[in-house]
Amino acid sequence: MKKPACSACGKPAVINLAYAARHLCAGCFVKYFEKRFLDTVREFRMIKPRERVAVGVSGGKDSMVLLHLLAKLRKRLPFEIVAITIDEGIAGYRSRTLAVAKRECKKLKVPLRVLSFRKGVGFSLDEIMKKEGSACSWCGVFRRYLLNKGARKERASKIAIGHNLDDVAQTVLMNIMRNEPARLARFLEPISEDDAFVPRIRPLMRAPEKEIAAYAMLKGIRITYSECPYAYQSFRQHVKGQLNETEEKYPGTKIRILNSFIWMEKLMEKEGEKSEILKCSGCGEPSSRGLCMACKMIERLGARQ
Ligand code: SF4
Ligand code: ZN
Repeated sequence: MKKPACSACGKPAVINLAYAARHLCAGCFVKYFEKRFLDTVREFRMIKPRERVAVGVSGGKDSMVLLHLLAKLRKRLPFEIVAITIDEGIAGYRSRTLAVAKRECKKLKVPLRVLSFRKGVGFSLDEIMKKEGSACSWCGVFRRYLLNKGARKERASKIAIGHNLDDVAQTVLMNIMRNEPARLARFLEPISEDDAFVPRIRPLMRAPEKEIAAYAMLKGIRITYSECPYAYQSFRQHVKGQLNETEEKYPGTKIRILNSFIWMEKLMEKEGEKSEILKCSGCGEPSSRGLCMACKMIERLGARQ
């Protein structure tokens, strides 16, 4: 069968963007991918000149592609980058991705800080799993907590994370399914810049996961594809499967979820509906009331020692 031609230049296409009814060749796809990244940074005014941006890197494809794109942008827009990796303590998994993060940061001349669960919350994730029988709910809270703390220590004014379109669409659906809409309230930072929460930016939020993998491959960014051994447990994994099926049948579903969410966010912002964030009475990190979730969880782990 004859290969489809690139919708932009007519060369043989390497990728099909079903949601946009377009096929693209390697060169046109790379341009399209990079332009979407730049447009997202501009649209949400994610990075200001001379700012210091902490990039959460895991060694996986999303954060590595993000790091490469930001390092490239740094040549046009003067700003600083520091990378932060959270080592949860997952035997046989994190050590591999950590090695990739170290290698890429060295190549791009980006300083890397590694913060561990063991040091930061007293237990590795493997230990928590043994005690509590679950991983993801602990992992998410502690990772967020340590990343925020690390970014403040680095005097970073933003945290860039590699969330892609799939992650964002899943998060929106998960929070609706769990009836936790408030969790979405601060999603599109940077809007306010208080001193407790370092605002998070997601420059890849419009990029589908598959396209990030394709971009990494075409640009020769070497990454590991190993998956966290606890991933099978998560609610996210279930939502991911459902969403992929729906996207397959109805291309553009994920983008429509993201766009609806952005629309709601803007509306809430106009009406001043954002919930107030206070400081945790235990550690001073952000909390909506009293002790923050991380302190409550650390207390619970300690109490069961
Ligand atoms: Fe953490 Fe769960 Fe993700 Fe593994 S799958 S890194 S345990 S949130
Ligand atoms: Zn082309």
